[in-house]
Amino acid sequence: MPVYDAIVLGTGGIGSAALLHLAQRGCKVLGIDQFVGPHDRGSSHGQTRIIRQAYFEHPNYTPLLLKTYRLWDELADRVGRQLYFETGVLQIGPADGEVVAGVFRSAEMHGLHLERLTPAEIEQRWPAFVVPAHMIGAIEHHAGYLLVEQCVDAHLQAATEAGAELLSPAAVEAWKPGPPVTLQTSEGELAAEHLIVTAGAWAGQLLADLQLNLEVRRKSLFWYPPNSGQEAAHRELPCFLYELPTGVFYGMPQVDDRGVKIGEHSGGQVIGDPLQVDREVDPEDRTATGAFAQQHLPQLTRQHRDHAVCMYTMSPDQHFIVDRHPEHSHVAFAAGLSGHGFKFAPILGQALSELVLDGGTPLPIEFLRLR
Ligand SMILES: Cc1cc2nc3c(=O)[nH]c(=O)nc-3n(C[C@H](O)[C@H](O)[C@H](O)COP(=O)(O)OP(=O)(O)OC[C@H]3O[C@@H](n4cnc5c(N)ncnc54)[C@H](O)[C@@H]3O)c2cc1C
Repeated sequence: MPVYDAIVLGTGGIGSAALLHLAQRGCKVLGIDQFVGPHDRGSSHGQTRIIRQAYFEHPNYTPLLLKTYRLWDELADRVGRQLYFETGVLQIGPADGEVVAGVFRSAEMHGLHLERLTPAEIEQRWPAFVVPAHMIGAIEHHAGYLLVEQCVDAHLQAATEAGAELLSPAAVEAWKPGPPVTLQTSEGELAAEHLIVTAGAWAGQLLADLQLNLEVRRKSLFWYPPNSGQEAAHRELPCFLYELPTGVFYGMPQVDDRGVKIGEHSGGQVIGDPLQVDREVDPEDRTATGAFAQQHLPQLTRQHRDHAVCMYTMSPDQHFIVDRHPEHSHVAFAAGLSGHGFKFAPILGQALSELVLDGGTPLPIEFLRLR
C-alpha cells in the first residue's frame, strides 16, 4: 500500500486548492473524489460565484480576501485563462439591515472604497434594476464573479502539473487516524501521513466524531434571458444582492445565452443524503425567484431557460470551520462553508496545507477555529 505525505479527501472547490498548495510544497499528495471534477453533484457548480471584499458577514474575513484575490490572479496566470471578471458588486437593502450596514462597516474598518447610491441613482446607472424607495445601495468596484467550474478545473490542472495525483471516481467509505491515516475506499485501502478533509456536503458524515452540527440545504438557481433588445443592459450589470423582507436574493450579469442567473441566499430545504437531493425544479423556489425577478429586474422574461440545484452546508453560526482535528493533529479540515466559501478557496487551501505540514498557519483564521 503506497503511503502518501498527504491525502485530500474531496477535490471540489476547497480541496482542489489544498491539493495545489501541498503539491507546491513538494509533497507526495493524492486527491480523492467520488466524482470526476469539476462536477455538478456538490457545491461548486452553476457557472459563477460572487467575490467581494467589504464583507457584511464579518469584517474578519476581509484580510483573507485581500490575499485570496492575489492567489486567484496567480492561478489564472498559471493556467493562462481568465477566471475572475471585475463587474463590481451592488448590494441593496435597508440602511439599518444586515447587508448594507455590514458592508459599510467592513469597508470602513479595512479602508475599502465603496460608493453609496440612492434608488434613483441605481436605476439611472443600470435601468434594468428596480429598487424599493426606502433602500440604499453600496457598489464595490473591485469585486465581481469567478467562473466556478473553471476555477476548480484550474486548481486540479495546476495541482497535477505540480505533481499531485488524482483518484476519481473513488468514494471514501471510512478513515482511521493512525498515524499513518488509512482510508477505506471503493478502490481499496490507502494511507498517508496527513489528511485534509474538504468534503463539502458530506463533511458531517466524514467528521462525525466532531459533531459539527452541519445542516445541508438544497439551493435552486434559475437563468432568465432578457426581453428582446435588453441583452446589452443585462450583460453590463454588476453582480447584485438584495436584502428584502421576502428573503435575500442575488444574481449575476448575463454571461451566456441562458441569461441572468438568480438565486435565493436565504432559506432552502434541509436535506438528509446529499447523494439523493432532488434535482427537479421546485415550484416554491421557482415562484419565489420568479417574483423577485419580476419585481426587481422586470426586463427579464418570465420563463427560465435553465435551472440547477446546488447545496449549502451551514454551520451553526454560518461561519466556516477550519482547523486541525482536536485529537489528531495530522488531520485538518474545512467544513460548514455556509453558502459563501468559494471565493476563499485558494487561501483556505493554503491555510489547510500549513495546518497539516507546519502544525499551524500565520494566516488570520483564528476566528474560524472549531472552538
Ligand atoms: C447555489 C450556490 C451559490 C453560491 N454562491 C456563492 C458565491 O457567490 N460566492 C461564494 O464565495 N460562495 C458561494 N457559494 C458557496 C460555495 O460555492 C461553497 O462554499 C464551496 O464551493 C464549497 O466547496 P467545498 O469544497 O466545501 O465543497 P465541494 O466543492 O462540493 O467539494 C466537496 C467534494 O468532496 C467530495 N466528497 C465528499 N464526500 C466524499 C467521499 N466520501 N469520497 C470521495 N469524495 C467525497 C465531493 O464529491 C465533492 O467533490 C455558493 C454555493 C451554492 C450552492
